[in-house]
Amino acid sequence: KWRKGPGIYNESKNLPIYQHKATLQQAVKDNSFLVVTGETGSGKTTQLPQYLHQAGFWSNGKIGITQPRRVAAITVAQRVSQEMHCSLGREVGYQVRFDDCTTQDTVVKYMTDGCLLREILADPVLSQYSVVILDEAHERSLNTDILLGLLKQTLSSPDKASKGRCVPLKVVVMSATLETDKLSVFLGGCPVFTIPGRTFPVTSKFSCAIGPKDTESSVYVKEVVKVALDVHTSEMAGDILVFLTGQSEIEKACDMLYEKAESIDYRYDVQDHKVEGLLILPLYGSMPTDQQKQIFQPPPPGIRKCVVATNIAATSLTINGIKYIVDSGFVKQLNHNSRVGMDILEVVPISKSEALQRAGRAGRTSAGKCFRIYSPAFWEKCMPEYTVPEIQRTSLTAVILTLKCLGVHDVIRFPYLDRPEERFILEALKQLYQCDAIDRRGKVTRLGELMVEFPLPPGLTRALLQAASLGCEDLLLPVAAMLSVENIFIRPEKQKEADKKHRQLGVQAGSCNDFTMLLSVFEKCKASDAPSAWCKDNYIHWRALKSAFSVETQLREILLRLQKKRDFPMEKFDGNKSELFRRCLCTGYFTNVARRYGVLHNGWAWIHEHSIKSPKCILHISPHRSLFDQEAQLDWVIFHDLLVTSRIYIRTVCPIRYDWVKDLLPKLHEVDVYE
Ligand code: ADP
Ligand code: MG
Repeated sequence: KWRKGPGIYNESKNLPIYQHKATLQQAVKDNSFLVVTGETGSGKTTQLPQYLHQAGFWSNGKIGITQPRRVAAITVAQRVSQEMHCSLGREVGYQVRFDDCTTQDTVVKYMTDGCLLREILADPVLSQYSVVILDEAHERSLNTDILLGLLKQTLSSPDKASKGRCVPLKVVVMSATLETDKLSVFLGGCPVFTIPGRTFPVTSKFSCAIGPKDTESSVYVKEVVKVALDVHTSEMAGDILVFLTGQSEIEKACDMLYEKAESIDYRYDVQDHKVEGLLILPLYGSMPTDQQKQIFQPPPPGIRKCVVATNIAATSLTINGIKYIVDSGFVKQLNHNSRVGMDILEVVPISKSEALQRAGRAGRTSAGKCFRIYSPAFWEKCMPEYTVPEIQRTSLTAVILTLKCLGVHDVIRFPYLDRPEERFILEALKQLYQCDAIDRRGKVTRLGELMVEFPLPPGLTRALLQAASLGCEDLLLPVAAMLSVENIFIRPEKQKEADKKHRQLGVQAGSCNDFTMLLSVFEKCKASDAPSAWCKDNYIHWRALKSAFSVETQLREILLRLQKKRDFPMEKFDGNKSELFRRCLCTGYFTNVARRYGVLHNGWAWIHEHSIKSPKCILHISPHRSLFDQEAQLDWVIFHDLLVTSRIYIRTVCPIRYDWVKDLLPKLHEVDVYE
């Protein structure tokens, strides 16, 4: 039987990494740590794991490759399974949070860095692996940084490293051409292998559209659309890659491109390169996988491809044939906001190094052009030199709990590649103490050991465990699942009607809040005979809800396993269901308590209790949720998260009574006690 598809086979022989196959195979054999660097698209992610497979590393355990982004782990695994001529999930598989596509046969495993961190928790020496490849290390994701520190610690202490292993673990760190010396020094001066790349010059042009003061999304979306259309009508053949911030901006831009492109007549020649039409393709993290495949396919003859993507196209996924870049200059980033004491997704200017990386995507196959929609003044004044690593700008709560559970007691002196500020570490310890995951001396509690098992934010896990100990996990499991998937509510043009339907769904057992709304959507759809039609009627995203069903099952399995294994804490509660539900939420969310302040700026406002000591933080209720119109009656509320625009909005809100949190609130203002 002819199994080797000649197309793919030949293509990968043309990649720059191919000539270094034997050298790389030998280098991994000879070293415990190796840093591999090379231009994006040189073949690191898709080829190196295959080379190591061919060299026989699989016989001592799996070859694991981590990715900071889910979509990259899935897409690349699909590609490599094709190249290796096996079906996905067999020899080649992937695992991301809540989606495990591996079997006993899997020897090449792509996964998110978060998944590997969970595996280390269960098996600190990773005895199932022969090689671990930490990919995209230059992205400096929180989990990759922690893995670097942990693997350094394990491998540099010989007795720890050999415990439970037959052969020593090999660690390869892969990175775009940034910071490789720093990585090598951090890993004890390990060798750095650079794949010589071929790149072509890219000319960059600034424009005046975005100055230092424009950060409104409607402005830059409109502008990238205009520039992309200009490129399409006036430049020679070659595909376009547009960098935008997130799903909603990308969809908006694609709609606008689609509308406008249709009204342009494309039949003209530019130096014999016929350009007739534009193929518009979105690319973002939570995109359905069947749509992703199109991104990599060459467009039909005479058609120009225009991919509108998030930062994922900067290094994680390489799209061939790109000759033009349109750079919005912005990125969506998770940042710790000290004003409100929480992590918030914000749109911020990219760094200069990021802008160079984006521009470089146009020079893969021939000389390219990059159109920046921002001015030189924006470059000078607004864009930092480098992107700050995630570990230095987000909450460390979950990671610190993981470290503590791994026996790393001194989390301040842990080997960090870039040390987070001490106050961030202390804040994480404080939050863990507040939700009873660690005690006053910083030791993990029984509850903390249970909490670390859940791939959820600590507050939500705390509420879930509280519900489980009161025998009402059926109320919280669906809610936790619904909060773990992408947005499930569709808000179409007929917004009012959709909002009304959503609110009606929320009324349950006499009470109505955003959490019961989530629960009720989940239950009603599950009970429906035709769930997808039900979703359509009620303006709900069926795809998102389907994944919530699967997440709920998985969370339930984790809980059942814990309830069986250990003496699970149980309590009793007398009261009605609505109060029980909201009280469980309070145990996890009492750090997100707000008290009504009064009318301010033409609307009701609340004060965040948590930040009561710092300058008072004023919050508003997001207008399209269940509690809108009832604001006058809400004295105390808890909330899941925040949306920061010109105002700070609280999202997913639930009214509570003061005496439910009265005893918990003093904990918010306790001084730090742990060493
Ligand atoms: P690197 O990790 O060095 O950036 P990759 O291994 O990701 O490089 O990519 C090598 C080549 O394989 C690139 O030219 C890329 O376009 C191609 N490639 C990767 N994934 C796919 C895919 N799913 N479909 C088609 N081509 C792909
Ligand atoms: Mg790669």
